[in-house]
Amino acid sequence: MQDPRAIDTDFDRLHLWHPYTSMRDPLPVYPVRGASGVMIELEDGRRLVDGMSSWWAAIHGYRHPELDRAVHEQLGRMSHVMFGGLTHEPAVELGRLLVQSTPPGLERVFFSDSGSVSVEVALKMAVQYWEALGRTQKKRMLALRGAYHGDTFGAMSVCDPVGGMHSLFRGAMQEQLFAELPLCPFDGECTEAVMEDIRTKLEGHHEELAALIVEPVVQGAGGMRFYSPDCLRRMRELCDRFGVLLVFDEIATGFGRTGRLFALEHAGVEPDILCVGKALTGGYMTLAATLSTGAVADTISSADPGLFMHGPTFMANPLACAVGLASVRLLRSGPWQERVRQIEAGLRRGLEPCREMEGVRDVRVLGAIGVVELHRPVDMAAMQREFVRRGVWVRPFGRLVYLMPPFIIEEDELDRLTLAVREVVR
Ligand SMILES: *Cc1c(COP(=O)(O)O)cnc(C)c1O
Repeated sequence: MQDPRAIDTDFDRLHLWHPYTSMRDPLPVYPVRGASGVMIELEDGRRLVDGMSSWWAAIHGYRHPELDRAVHEQLGRMSHVMFGGLTHEPAVELGRLLVQSTPPGLERVFFSDSGSVSVEVALKMAVQYWEALGRTQKKRMLALRGAYHGDTFGAMSVCDPVGGMHSLFRGAMQEQLFAELPLCPFDGECTEAVMEDIRTKLEGHHEELAALIVEPVVQGAGGMRFYSPDCLRRMRELCDRFGVLLVFDEIATGFGRTGRLFALEHAGVEPDILCVGKALTGGYMTLAATLSTGAVADTISSADPGLFMHGPTFMANPLACAVGLASVRLLRSGPWQERVRQIEAGLRRGLEPCREMEGVRDVRVLGAIGVVELHRPVDMAAMQREFVRRGVWVRPFGRLVYLMPPFIIEEDELDRLTLAVREVVR
Protein backbone atom coordinates (compact mmCIF):
# COMPACT_ATOMS: atom_id res chain seq x y z
CA MET A 1 0.00 0.00 0.00
CA GLN A 2 1.48 3.34 -1.04
CA ASP A 3 1.40 6.10 1.57
CA PRO A 4 -0.20 9.12 -0.14
CA ARG A 5 2.14 11.47 1.68
CA ALA A 6 5.45 10.92 -0.06
CA ILE A 7 8.57 11.75 1.92
CA ASP A 8 9.75 15.17 0.78
CA THR A 9 13.37 14.45 -0.07
CA ASP A 10 13.76 17.90 -1.63
CA PHE A 11 13.05 19.51 1.73
CA ASP A 12 15.44 17.02 3.32
CA ARG A 13 18.22 17.91 0.91
CA LEU A 14 17.77 21.65 1.41
CA HIS A 15 17.17 21.81 5.14
CA LEU A 16 18.33 18.75 7.07
CA TRP A 17 21.85 17.92 8.08
CA HIS A 18 22.67 14.23 7.96
CA PRO A 19 25.65 12.70 9.80
CA TYR A 20 28.96 13.97 8.44
CA THR A 21 27.58 15.47 5.26
CA SER A 22 27.76 18.70 3.38
CA MET A 23 24.74 21.01 3.02
CA ARG A 24 25.99 22.22 -0.34
CA ASP A 25 26.63 18.87 -1.90
CA PRO A 26 24.86 16.27 0.24
CA LEU A 27 25.13 12.58 -0.53
CA PRO A 28 21.85 10.95 -1.62
CA VAL A 29 19.57 9.59 1.10
CA TYR A 30 17.03 6.80 0.71
CA PRO A 31 13.52 7.44 2.07
CA VAL A 32 12.38 4.65 4.40
CA ARG A 33 8.75 3.63 4.84
CA GLY A 34 9.25 1.12 7.62
CA ALA A 35 11.40 -1.64 8.97
CA SER A 36 10.64 -4.98 10.48
CA GLY A 37 12.73 -7.96 11.46
CA VAL A 38 15.96 -7.73 9.52
CA MET A 39 14.42 -5.80 6.60
CA ILE A 40 14.39 -2.08 5.89
CA GLU A 41 11.63 -1.11 3.46
CA LEU A 42 12.20 1.88 1.19
CA GLU A 43 9.41 4.18 0.15
CA ASP A 44 9.42 2.73 -3.37
CA GLY A 45 8.76 -0.73 -1.93
CA ARG A 46 12.28 -2.16 -2.24
CA ARG A 47 13.24 -4.25 0.75
CA LEU A 48 16.84 -4.29 1.98
CA VAL A 49 18.52 -6.80 4.28
CA ASP A 50 20.02 -4.70 7.07
CA GLY A 51 23.75 -5.22 7.44
CA MET A 52 24.34 -2.34 9.85
CA SER A 53 21.90 -2.78 12.77
CA SER A 54 21.48 0.99 12.48
CA TRP A 55 25.04 1.54 13.74
CA TRP A 56 25.40 -1.37 16.19
CA ALA A 57 22.06 -0.70 17.88
CA ALA A 58 19.21 -2.83 16.46
CA ILE A 59 20.48 -6.19 17.69
CA HIS A 60 16.97 -7.73 17.77
CA GLY A 61 16.00 -6.26 14.40
CA TYR A 62 13.11 -3.85 13.93
CA ARG A 63 9.61 -3.92 15.39
CA HIS A 64 10.30 -6.74 17.76
CA PRO A 65 6.96 -7.55 19.45
CA GLU A 66 8.41 -7.65 22.96
CA LEU A 67 10.18 -4.33 22.56
CA ASP A 68 7.13 -2.75 20.91
CA ARG A 69 5.03 -3.95 23.84
CA ALA A 70 7.47 -2.53 26.42
CA VAL A 71 7.21 0.92 24.83
CA HIS A 72 3.40 0.75 24.53
CA GLU A 73 2.99 -0.32 28.15
CA GLN A 74 5.29 2.40 29.40
CA LEU A 75 3.45 5.00 27.28
CA GLY A 76 0.32 4.04 29.18
CA ARG A 77 2.02 4.96 32.46
CA MET A 78 4.18 7.96 31.54
CA SER A 79 6.63 8.76 28.80
CA HIS A 80 8.80 10.97 30.94
CA VAL A 81 9.28 12.55 34.33
CA MET A 82 12.33 14.43 35.52
CA PHE A 83 14.91 12.32 37.38
CA GLY A 84 15.77 15.13 39.78
CA GLY A 85 14.01 14.19 43.01
CA LEU A 86 11.90 11.44 41.36
CA THR A 87 12.53 7.83 40.40
CA HIS A 88 10.65 5.03 38.64
CA GLU A 89 10.62 1.31 38.05
CA PRO A 90 12.16 1.23 34.54
CA ALA A 91 15.24 3.10 35.78
CA VAL A 92 15.59 1.00 38.92
CA GLU A 93 15.17 -2.33 37.14
CA LEU A 94 17.41 -1.43 34.20
CA GLY A 95 20.03 -0.18 36.65
CA ARG A 96 19.79 -3.45 38.56
CA LEU A 97 20.18 -5.47 35.35
CA LEU A 98 23.24 -3.45 34.29
CA VAL A 99 24.88 -3.89 37.68
CA GLN A 100 24.17 -7.65 37.50
CA SER A 101 25.41 -7.97 33.92
CA THR A 102 28.75 -6.20 34.39
CA PRO A 103 31.78 -7.03 36.59
CA PRO A 104 30.98 -6.99 40.32
CA GLY A 105 32.99 -3.85 41.08
CA LEU A 106 30.83 -1.71 38.79
CA GLU A 107 27.91 -0.88 41.02
CA ARG A 108 26.95 2.77 40.43
CA VAL A 109 24.98 3.77 37.33
CA PHE A 110 24.62 7.20 35.73
CA PHE A 111 22.01 7.28 32.92
CA SER A 112 22.34 9.77 30.09
CA ASP A 113 20.89 10.30 26.66
CA SER A 114 23.62 9.33 24.21
CA GLY A 115 26.93 7.57 23.94
CA SER A 116 28.90 10.78 23.61
CA VAL A 117 27.33 12.14 26.79
CA SER A 118 28.13 8.93 28.65
CA VAL A 119 31.77 9.47 27.64
CA GLU A 120 31.62 13.10 28.82
CA VAL A 121 30.27 11.79 32.12
CA ALA A 122 33.10 9.24 32.37
CA LEU A 123 35.76 11.92 31.74
CA LYS A 124 34.16 14.28 34.26
CA MET A 125 34.01 11.50 36.83
CA ALA A 126 37.72 10.83 36.34
CA VAL A 127 38.57 14.51 36.81
CA GLN A 128 36.32 14.89 39.85
CA TYR A 129 37.76 11.71 41.37
CA TRP A 130 41.31 13.06 41.39
CA GLU A 131 40.14 16.52 42.38
CA ALA A 132 38.44 14.97 45.42
CA LEU A 133 41.73 13.31 46.36
CA GLY A 134 43.55 16.64 46.15
CA ARG A 135 45.42 15.56 42.99
CA THR A 136 44.37 18.64 41.09
CA GLN A 137 47.01 18.24 38.38
CA LYS A 138 45.42 15.05 37.06
CA LYS A 139 43.10 16.42 34.39
CA ARG A 140 44.31 15.05 31.07
CA MET A 141 43.32 11.82 29.37
CA LEU A 142 45.38 9.18 27.62
CA ALA A 143 43.63 7.65 24.60
CA LEU A 144 44.65 5.42 21.71
CA ARG A 145 45.35 6.29 18.11
CA GLY A 146 42.44 5.12 15.97
CA ALA A 147 39.95 5.55 18.82
CA TYR A 148 36.41 6.79 18.43
CA HIS A 149 34.51 7.94 21.53
CA GLY A 150 31.88 10.34 20.21
CA ASP A 151 31.39 13.80 18.77
CA THR A 152 30.95 16.23 21.67
CA PHE A 153 34.00 18.26 22.73
CA GLY A 154 35.23 16.05 25.55
CA ALA A 155 34.54 12.83 23.67
CA MET A 156 36.04 14.25 20.49
CA SER A 157 39.21 15.21 22.36
CA VAL A 158 39.93 11.51 22.98
CA CYS A 159 39.18 10.42 19.38
CA ASP A 160 42.03 9.79 16.97
CA PRO A 161 43.52 13.26 16.34
CA VAL A 162 43.73 12.77 12.57
CA GLY A 163 40.45 10.91 11.99
CA GLY A 164 38.78 13.26 14.48
CA MET A 165 40.17 16.29 12.64
CA HIS A 166 41.61 17.83 15.80
CA SER A 167 43.39 20.49 13.75
CA LEU A 168 39.96 21.96 12.91
CA PHE A 169 39.21 22.45 16.60
CA ARG A 170 42.64 23.42 17.87
CA GLY A 171 42.22 25.93 20.66
CA ALA A 172 38.57 25.00 21.19
CA MET A 173 39.27 21.60 22.64
CA GLN A 174 41.53 20.17 25.33
CA GLU A 175 44.63 18.51 23.89
CA GLN A 176 44.92 15.00 25.24
CA LEU A 177 47.70 12.47 25.07
CA PHE A 178 47.71 9.58 22.58
CA ALA A 179 49.45 6.23 22.49
CA GLU A 180 49.68 3.72 19.66
CA LEU A 181 47.10 0.96 19.59
CA PRO A 182 48.84 -2.29 20.61
CA LEU A 183 49.51 -4.06 17.30
CA CYS A 184 48.58 -7.48 18.52
CA PRO A 185 45.97 -9.66 16.82
CA PHE A 186 42.88 -10.80 18.72
CA ASP A 187 44.32 -14.26 19.38
CA GLY A 188 47.87 -13.03 19.90
CA GLU A 189 49.78 -12.67 23.14
CA CYS A 190 50.41 -9.13 24.25
CA THR A 191 54.14 -8.42 24.47
CA GLU A 192 56.09 -5.68 26.25
CA ALA A 193 56.94 -4.29 22.83
CA VAL A 194 53.37 -3.64 21.69
CA MET A 195 52.53 -2.02 25.04
CA GLU A 196 55.67 0.10 25.00
CA ASP A 197 54.01 3.35 23.90
CA ILE A 198 51.17 3.07 26.41
CA ARG A 199 53.63 2.24 29.20
CA THR A 200 55.93 5.13 28.28
CA LYS A 201 53.08 7.63 28.16
CA LEU A 202 51.71 6.46 31.51
CA GLU A 203 55.14 6.48 33.11
CA GLY A 204 56.05 9.90 31.79
CA HIS A 205 52.74 11.65 32.35
CA HIS A 206 50.87 9.94 35.19
CA GLU A 207 51.14 13.07 37.34
CA GLU A 208 48.84 14.88 34.91
CA LEU A 209 46.73 11.93 33.74
CA ALA A 210 43.26 11.30 35.13
CA ALA A 211 42.38 8.25 33.02
CA LEU A 212 43.24 5.95 30.17
CA ILE A 213 40.18 5.50 27.95
CA VAL A 214 39.94 2.65 25.42
CA GLU A 215 37.42 0.65 23.42
CA PRO A 216 38.14 -2.89 24.63
CA VAL A 217 39.14 -5.47 21.96
CA VAL A 218 37.47 -3.70 19.02
CA GLN A 219 38.05 -0.15 17.92
CA GLY A 220 34.81 0.75 16.16
CA ALA A 221 34.14 3.80 14.03
CA GLY A 222 37.82 4.86 14.14
CA GLY A 223 38.91 1.94 11.95
CA MET A 224 37.34 -1.38 12.98
CA ARG A 225 40.60 -2.77 14.35
CA PHE A 226 40.74 -5.77 16.69
CA TYR A 227 43.41 -6.39 19.31
CA SER A 228 44.22 -8.95 21.94
CA PRO A 229 42.24 -9.01 25.21
CA ASP A 230 45.58 -9.77 26.82
CA CYS A 231 46.44 -6.09 26.27
CA LEU A 232 43.52 -5.07 28.48
CA ARG A 233 45.10 -7.00 31.36
CA ARG A 234 48.37 -5.14 30.76
CA MET A 235 46.50 -1.83 30.68
CA ARG A 236 44.87 -2.66 34.01
CA GLU A 237 48.26 -3.48 35.58
CA LEU A 238 49.86 -0.33 34.22
CA CYS A 239 46.99 1.91 35.32
CA ASP A 240 47.19 0.44 38.82
CA ARG A 241 50.95 0.86 38.91
CA PHE A 242 50.86 4.50 37.83
CA GLY A 243 47.67 5.59 39.59
CA VAL A 244 45.51 6.31 36.55
CA LEU A 245 41.84 5.35 36.20
CA LEU A 246 40.87 2.91 33.45
CA VAL A 247 37.77 3.70 31.39
CA PHE A 248 36.28 1.17 28.96
CA ASP A 249 34.01 2.49 26.23
CA GLU A 250 31.74 -0.46 25.32
CA ILE A 251 29.18 1.66 23.49
CA ALA A 252 29.85 -0.31 20.29
CA THR A 253 31.05 -3.63 21.70
CA GLY A 254 28.49 -4.05 24.50
CA PHE A 255 25.52 -6.43 24.48
CA GLY A 256 26.95 -9.38 22.67
CA ARG A 257 28.48 -7.97 19.50
CA THR A 258 31.93 -9.53 19.99
CA GLY A 259 30.61 -12.90 21.18
CA ARG A 260 30.67 -11.97 24.89
CA LEU A 261 28.03 -9.88 26.60
CA PHE A 262 30.75 -7.26 27.08
CA ALA A 263 34.11 -7.30 25.32
CA LEU A 264 35.89 -6.94 28.67
CA GLU A 265 34.82 -10.53 29.42
CA HIS A 266 37.36 -11.78 26.85
CA ALA A 267 39.99 -10.56 29.31
CA GLY A 268 38.24 -10.77 32.66
CA VAL A 269 39.33 -7.21 33.38
CA GLU A 270 37.39 -4.69 35.45
CA PRO A 271 37.66 -1.04 34.51
CA ASP A 272 36.99 1.75 37.01
CA ILE A 273 34.41 3.27 34.68
CA LEU A 274 32.37 1.68 31.87
CA CYS A 275 30.31 3.39 29.15
CA VAL A 276 27.43 1.59 27.41
CA GLY A 277 24.93 2.84 24.83
CA LYS A 278 23.91 1.98 21.26
CA ALA A 279 22.43 -1.56 21.64
CA LEU A 280 21.30 -0.80 25.20
CA THR A 281 17.73 -0.21 23.99
CA GLY A 282 17.91 -2.58 21.02
CA GLY A 283 18.04 0.54 18.86
CA TYR A 284 14.61 1.83 19.90
CA MET A 285 15.46 4.95 21.89
CA THR A 286 18.53 6.99 22.63
CA LEU A 287 19.94 5.99 26.00
CA ALA A 288 23.37 5.40 27.49
CA ALA A 289 24.86 4.70 30.89
CA THR A 290 28.14 5.25 32.68
CA LEU A 291 28.88 2.68 35.38
CA SER A 292 31.56 3.19 37.98
CA THR A 293 33.04 1.40 40.94
CA GLY A 294 31.90 2.26 44.44
CA ALA A 295 35.36 3.72 45.08
CA VAL A 296 35.05 6.23 42.23
CA ALA A 297 31.50 7.25 43.17
CA ASP A 298 32.22 7.46 46.90
CA THR A 299 35.41 9.45 46.46
CA ILE A 300 33.62 11.97 44.22
CA SER A 301 30.80 12.22 46.74
CA SER A 302 33.02 12.58 49.78
CA ALA A 303 34.77 15.83 48.86
CA ASP A 304 33.56 19.34 48.15
CA PRO A 305 31.02 19.96 46.58
CA GLY A 306 29.91 16.47 47.62
CA LEU A 307 28.12 15.69 44.40
CA PHE A 308 28.74 14.76 40.80
CA MET A 309 28.30 17.77 38.51
CA HIS A 310 26.09 16.41 35.77
CA GLY A 311 22.33 15.98 35.26
CA PRO A 312 20.72 15.82 31.82
CA THR A 313 17.11 16.95 31.34
CA PHE A 314 16.12 13.55 29.95
CA MET A 315 18.21 11.52 32.41
CA ALA A 316 16.82 7.97 32.75
CA ASN A 317 13.91 8.67 30.40
CA PRO A 318 11.27 6.06 31.35
CA LEU A 319 10.37 5.05 27.78
CA ALA A 320 14.03 4.49 26.98
CA CYS A 321 14.69 2.63 30.25
CA ALA A 322 11.61 0.43 29.74
CA VAL A 323 12.66 -0.63 26.28
CA GLY A 324 16.27 -0.99 27.45
CA LEU A 325 15.12 -3.32 30.19
CA ALA A 326 13.07 -5.36 27.70
CA SER A 327 15.98 -5.50 25.25
CA VAL A 328 18.61 -6.63 27.75
CA ARG A 329 16.20 -9.21 29.21
CA LEU A 330 15.36 -10.49 25.74
CA LEU A 331 19.03 -10.79 24.88
CA ARG A 332 19.97 -12.57 28.10
CA SER A 333 17.05 -14.99 27.94
CA GLY A 334 17.69 -16.05 24.33
CA PRO A 335 20.36 -18.12 22.58
CA TRP A 336 22.37 -15.06 21.55
CA GLN A 337 25.79 -16.70 21.96
CA GLU A 338 24.78 -19.44 19.54
CA ARG A 339 23.40 -16.86 17.11
CA VAL A 340 26.52 -14.70 17.23
CA ARG A 341 28.67 -17.82 16.71
CA GLN A 342 26.63 -18.72 13.63
CA ILE A 343 26.90 -15.17 12.30
CA GLU A 344 30.66 -15.28 12.92
CA ALA A 345 30.94 -18.51 10.93
CA GLY A 346 28.75 -17.10 8.12
CA LEU A 347 30.77 -13.89 7.96
CA ARG A 348 34.05 -15.83 7.80
CA ARG A 349 32.75 -18.11 5.07
CA GLY A 350 31.24 -15.25 3.10
CA LEU A 351 33.94 -12.60 3.42
CA GLU A 352 37.13 -14.68 3.39
CA PRO A 353 37.15 -14.94 -0.47
CA CYS A 354 37.55 -11.14 -0.59
CA ARG A 355 41.10 -11.59 0.70
CA GLU A 356 42.19 -12.74 -2.76
CA MET A 357 40.65 -9.76 -4.53
CA GLU A 358 42.58 -6.86 -5.95
CA GLY A 359 42.59 -3.80 -3.71
CA VAL A 360 41.75 -5.73 -0.54
CA ARG A 361 44.18 -5.24 2.29
CA ASP A 362 42.63 -7.34 5.05
CA VAL A 363 39.55 -9.34 6.00
CA ARG A 364 38.72 -9.76 9.68
CA VAL A 365 35.81 -11.18 11.60
CA LEU A 366 35.02 -11.23 15.30
CA GLY A 367 31.63 -12.16 16.69
CA ALA A 368 28.94 -10.46 14.64
CA ILE A 369 31.41 -8.01 13.07
CA GLY A 370 32.85 -8.59 9.60
CA VAL A 371 35.30 -6.17 8.01
CA VAL A 372 36.82 -5.92 4.55
CA GLU A 373 39.57 -3.33 4.56
CA LEU A 374 40.65 -1.93 1.19
CA HIS A 375 43.87 -0.22 0.19
CA ARG A 376 42.13 2.97 -0.84
CA PRO A 377 39.05 4.91 0.36
CA VAL A 378 35.79 3.93 -1.31
CA ASP A 379 33.32 6.10 -3.19
CA MET A 380 30.63 5.78 -0.53
CA ALA A 381 27.67 7.01 -2.61
CA ALA A 382 28.49 4.79 -5.57
CA MET A 383 29.05 1.74 -3.39
CA GLN A 384 25.87 2.35 -1.43
CA ARG A 385 23.93 2.53 -4.68
CA GLU A 386 25.38 -0.82 -5.74
CA PHE A 387 24.41 -2.37 -2.41
CA VAL A 388 20.85 -1.03 -2.62
CA ARG A 389 20.61 -2.43 -6.16
CA ARG A 390 21.46 -5.84 -4.66
CA GLY A 391 18.81 -5.54 -1.96
CA VAL A 392 21.05 -4.96 1.05
CA TRP A 393 21.80 -2.03 3.32
CA VAL A 394 25.55 -1.62 3.79
CA ARG A 395 27.23 1.71 4.36
CA PRO A 396 31.00 1.67 3.89
CA PHE A 397 33.24 4.42 5.17
CA GLY A 398 36.82 5.33 4.43
CA ARG A 399 38.66 2.18 3.39
CA LEU A 400 36.20 -0.10 5.17
CA VAL A 401 33.29 -2.17 3.99
CA TYR A 402 31.82 -3.84 7.04
CA LEU A 403 28.85 -5.82 8.28
CA MET A 404 27.31 -5.93 11.75
CA PRO A 405 23.86 -7.42 11.20
CA PRO A 406 21.07 -7.82 13.77
CA PHE A 407 21.52 -11.04 15.78
CA ILE A 408 18.19 -12.37 14.45
CA ILE A 409 19.48 -12.60 10.88
CA GLU A 410 18.88 -15.95 9.14
CA GLU A 411 21.59 -17.79 7.26
CA ASP A 412 20.19 -17.06 3.78
CA GLU A 413 19.88 -13.35 4.58
CA LEU A 414 23.45 -13.29 5.85
CA ASP A 415 24.54 -15.03 2.64
CA ARG A 416 22.83 -12.28 0.66
CA LEU A 417 24.83 -9.69 2.58
CA THR A 418 28.19 -11.37 2.11
CA LEU A 419 27.48 -12.15 -1.56
CA ALA A 420 26.70 -8.47 -2.14
CA VAL A 421 29.95 -7.48 -0.41
CA ARG A 422 31.94 -9.92 -2.57
CA GLU A 423 30.30 -8.64 -5.75
CA VAL A 424 30.59 -4.96 -4.94
CA VAL A 425 34.17 -5.19 -3.69
CA ARG A 426 35.13 -7.11 -6.80
C1 LIG B 1 28.89 5.48 18.71
C2 LIG B 1 29.95 5.53 19.72
C3 LIG B 1 30.05 6.59 20.64
C4 LIG B 1 29.11 7.78 20.59
O1 LIG B 1 27.79 7.44 20.81
P1 LIG B 1 26.61 8.43 20.31
O2 LIG B 1 25.37 7.78 20.83
O3 LIG B 1 26.70 8.46 18.83
O4 LIG B 1 26.87 9.76 20.93
C5 LIG B 1 31.04 6.54 21.59
N1 LIG B 1 31.91 5.53 21.65
C6 LIG B 1 31.86 4.48 20.79
C7 LIG B 1 32.83 3.36 20.93
C8 LIG B 1 30.88 4.45 19.80
O5 LIG B 1 30.85 3.43 18.93
